[in-house]
Amino acid sequence: MKKKINSASSGLIIGGVILFMFGLLMILRVNPLLSLFSQVIPDVQVIEVVGVISQFIGQALVVFGAMRSTAHNLISNMQAERRITMEGFNQSVQQFQSKLLSEQQALKTGYTQAMAKIDALMANQKAALPKAVLPSNCKFCGAQIQQSRFCPQCGKAN
Ligand SMILES: [Zn+2]
Repeated sequence: MKKKINSASSGLIIGGVILFMFGLLMILRVNPLLSLFSQVIPDVQVIEVVGVISQFIGQALVVFGAMRSTAHNLISNMQAERRITMEGFNQSVQQFQSKLLSEQQALKTGYTQAMAKIDALMANQKAALPKAVLPSNCKFCGAQIQQSRFCPQCGKAN
């Protein structure tokens, strides 16, 4: 593909140069085809004009071919650069993802451990709680005591 376009570009450049030379020789009246042209176009001024136009078209072809070649090289360079950039981008995304995954894993492990600790704490609390909440009676007056060490009836410490 690249070779094909490049050869087309160089073909344009070569054709342009030939056409330019043809026009130049025509203006200088040394073109081997001049006698043939003279038969078809007897006017000398017209021959000069054709020569100038040939030169102009030849130059345009050379410029167009060069531009085409340069543009193609530029595009292929851009594509290569973009591919490299995309590869780098994908690589960093993958690195970021794996890092994120490992961090997530660590976080998950930490969370699980924390939750296990909380569960154990809550189990301990639950085991301890009924004793604390369980109503008891005052040693002195027999009144029911809820949480405080002091009796609400007689005010003595139990
Ligand atoms: Zn009491």
